[in-house]
Amino acid sequence: RIAYVNGQYVPHGQAYVHIEDRGYQFADGVYEVCEVRAGRMIDERRHMERLERSLREMRMAMPMPLKALGIVLRETIRRNRVRDGFVYLQVTRGVAPRDHYFPAPGTPPSIVVTARHVDPAKGDALALQGMAVITVPENRWERVDIKTVGLLPNVLAKQAAKEAGAREAWFVDAEGRVTEGGSTNAWIVTRDGKLVTRPAESGILRGITRTVMMDVAEKLQIRVEERPFTVVEALAAREAFVTSATNFAMPVVRIDGQVIGDGIPGPVTRALRENFHHHAEIAD
Ligand code: PMP
Repeated sequence: RIAYVNGQYVPHGQAYVHIEDRGYQFADGVYEVCEVRAGRMIDERRHMERLERSLREMRMAMPMPLKALGIVLRETIRRNRVRDGFVYLQVTRGVAPRDHYFPAPGTPPSIVVTARHVDPAKGDALALQGMAVITVPENRWERVDIKTVGLLPNVLAKQAAKEAGAREAWFVDAEGRVTEGGSTNAWIVTRDGKLVTRPAESGILRGITRTVMMDVAEKLQIRVEERPFTVVEALAAREAFVTSATNFAMPVVRIDGQVIGDGIPGPVTRALRENFHHHAEIAD
């Protein structure tokens, strides 16, 4: 495997950043994960737009022109011979002696890109079964709209899920409403067949898959309500699912051990999953 690190393509096993990198010291960086399908990036434009937004909110500059970044992403995919899988991009505020204040102006950001093959059959197999989630109290800061590498609450929540025999943890706010998953957006299908997902104005990351799924729903003439839903409502839902670039739409069949709907993946989730790639943007 090959990784791109600050201007060079290096063997994955020798791909290093310095111990004084701001990402390592302060989680002072942002990232993106983009699906690769048949050798092409899915929704590259939207991922790059979100990256630009994350950087802006962090008061960081784009590390290189968008066009050049696109070339690096493609070259990393190519060098790793990834047909189906993911490309990962991370940008940090660079290397500087540890001090909370921003590094001196002109300090170059650190850029890392990796790409990995993932067998699509694995996700498809899981989607036939559906997965379990647990709920955990929301304990993250209020800027989770920025895709930062500061993911400690997410790590702890997902590990708790794993130890409980589940795959994902849903954060729940003080009002009992689901915000999002540790690495996914959360959705339910109500008894009357409507999709419900939390508004992305605050409290969640605006998932690219979430945005595209809204278009898919519209095309399938499924109504979408952007509003918070409670755990109680989710437990009574007909279907539940999560979305992310690595999961598309993944059925949730158990929440905190309680069966949702019939306990098997439902038709609405399946339809969204099957139609997702017809609506996603496929890059050159
Ligand atoms: N929420 C969180 C916290 C995430 O980490 C992710 C995945 N990066 C998502 C939602 C889903 O976003 P996307 O659809 O862009 O992958």
